Amino acid sequence: MDRDIKDLLSKCADQFGTPAYCYALDGIRSQAARIREAFSNRFALSYAVKSNPNPSLLAALREIADKVDVSSGGEIELALAAGWSAGQISFTGPGKTRSELEQAVKADIEYVIVESLDEARLLDEACAATGASREILLRISPKKMPRGFGINMAGKPTQFGIDEEEIEPAMTELTRLKRLALKGFHIYSGTQCLQAEAVVENLSIFTEIFRSVCTRHDITPDCLIFGSGFGIPYHENDLPLDLEEVAAGTMPVLDALQDDDRFRSTKLVLELGRFLIGESGFFLTRVIRIKESRGASLAICDGGMHHHLAACGHLGSVLHRNYRISNLSAELRGNGPAERKYELVGPLCTSIDTLGHGVALPETRIGDVLLVESSGAYGLSSSPIHFISHSPPVEILVDSSKKPADLRDISHFRGHIRSA
Ligand SMILES: *Cc1c(COP(=O)(O)O)cnc(C)c1O
Repeated sequence: MDRDIKDLLSKCADQFGTPAYCYALDGIRSQAARIREAFSNRFALSYAVKSNPNPSLLAALREIADKVDVSSGGEIELALAAGWSAGQISFTGPGKTRSELEQAVKADIEYVIVESLDEARLLDEACAATGASREILLRISPKKMPRGFGINMAGKPTQFGIDEEEIEPAMTELTRLKRLALKGFHIYSGTQCLQAEAVVENLSIFTEIFRSVCTRHDITPDCLIFGSGFGIPYHENDLPLDLEEVAAGTMPVLDALQDDDRFRSTKLVLELGRFLIGESGFFLTRVIRIKESRGASLAICDGGMHHHLAACGHLGSVLHRNYRISNLSAELRGNGPAERKYELVGPLCTSIDTLGHGVALPETRIGDVLLVESSGAYGLSSSPIHFISHSPPVEILVDSSKKPADLRDISHFRGHIRSA
């Protein structure tokens, strides 16, 4: 990490206090540009709102991504309020309710991504009520995917999408629903993969499924959505995904697909969350107490699992592996290399509130600001902020394309939780 961003983060902590999430807009911009360039602009970029629904970030992303994918009626509202047009919104989710489907129809979003036949029937009925018809994409759950994904939904019972094995009867049934027009397909079967070869293989599997189903059913799709599955390094020994290698392996597959007339004018969409914003987000927390206990040094921080569940190892991970954590204040003081291992804990009255085990840091003092990297996605909105009624963290948008850099409080969850 370069010194400039560290200086800015330190400034954020001084100016806005801690705990804080900081999102570096420049980092997100350049990541989007890198992705577009790697794939020679073949893919439109769709941002998965669930990875971070902060309203101001969502508004800023309009200049960076092409579309958004939402997963609830609430996220439809958020996307529209942030200025995204209905025509840029797709809607995924295994449990869409009738009222959410009605909301999608009324808002006239671009695509409902249909995940089951029952949902398709419900959507058809929702359309009947308004006399409207709807263009949909169908989500397919693949039979197989390569190893190497942190989350893998393929080849096992899943609530997501129509099983690849069940596509034929589903297609027959879908054609009976006269108000729905099938315009393409969607696959997102796993994520957090850091191995380029596995990602290439996975995107190739998607492509083959898309080609096969469209050919068999004589569909010329308007749109195919590829849930990227691109991972980011969270832990000390993680190596970043080699994007250029992914693109080098995937481009020939896409070329071959689009050499076929059927797919020549199909819009290809890459759907992603963490890979776009994850590494440009930082969590800052201040040490409020140092304690020696039975041979260990503990730093008790003002931020914990109620603010950052994932860093504490409770968001879907089996084992707690430390995120990359450093002592920003000590570095800026010019303190030397890590000299001691600390147990970094939050302020909650539960022993599972641990940000890091045995984290090597320079001498750490009360008041120091610690920096948790890779915190842009699945951070605040994925954490149980109401547990034990502390104040929520502030959220800061950092735009260093402006001189001097623009630091803006964009806190979504505001204010203290007051006692009665
Ligand atoms: C969560 C989700 C994503 C984003 O996943 P990342 O791992 O953040 O890239 C994309 N598409 C769908 C359908 C999702 O549910």
